[in-house]
Amino acid sequence: MKITIVGAAGEVTGSAYYVQTKSGSVLVDCGLFQGGRKSEALNRPPTGPKQKLDAVLLTHGHLDHTGRLPLLAKRGHTAPVFATPATIEMTSLILRDSARIQAGDAERRNREARSRLAKPAEPLYTPEHAEAIIQCLKPVPYRQPVAVAPGIEAIWTESGHMLGSGSIQLIVEEDGKRKRVVFSGDLGPRSAPILKEFEPFREADLVFLESTTTAATIVRLSRRLMSSCASSRKPSRGRGRSWCRPLRWAAPNS
Ligand SMILES: [Zn+2]
Repeated sequence: MKITIVGAAGEVTGSAYYVQTKSGSVLVDCGLFQGGRKSEALNRPPTGPKQKLDAVLLTHGHLDHTGRLPLLAKRGHTAPVFATPATIEMTSLILRDSARIQAGDAERRNREARSRLAKPAEPLYTPEHAEAIIQCLKPVPYRQPVAVAPGIEAIWTESGHMLGSGSIQLIVEEDGKRKRVVFSGDLGPRSAPILKEFEPFREADLVFLESTTTAATIVRLSRRLMSSCASSRKPSRGRGRSWCRPLRWAAPNS
């Protein structure tokens, strides 16, 4: 198994992970880079045109986790995009709005620059690309394994971040071995009266924990995410949003 971080590394937007095994490959999230021209210049499809992609899995409907999806449609992607029902509703709204904003921005740039531009500015994607990827959205339940690609199952659990949000655990079978990889997505905020508490996982071989907060907060969140921690080692890497913990964790009751 190979996992490539293709967004939100060294900064806080553009969340995306590309997971490849010998039999299948999936993207976990496909977020838009935001925050100025330097970040926005990174808005390319997270996978290359010749790279296999069996499915996309969404943790939640925010733009920095979904906003590059229409770029996949622009390149002809038709495979499923799995998400909880509420995330599907939020993602549909957000992508339609994003496509409208992209079109408006390109129009404004062309109007302001007029003859100074060698060729007219084009929107990153159009409403047609957004509609095409919205057609690929497929609902998944919480807490039940879903076959998302050959040899890969996924389980969504509540992450307490927004309506429909979930952390995703991948169960990957390869070379006769089974590995569990957790992608936290955004967690919390805690104690918001309209949100549920995030649910811990009991077992994982590898955890990708997203946070924009301090290392101390990361360690505290990661312990809660896994419910019981077999190690007190600090997160292994991450100056931006994604933190990788190459640890074997198991709760007593797992
Ligand atoms: Zn979010």
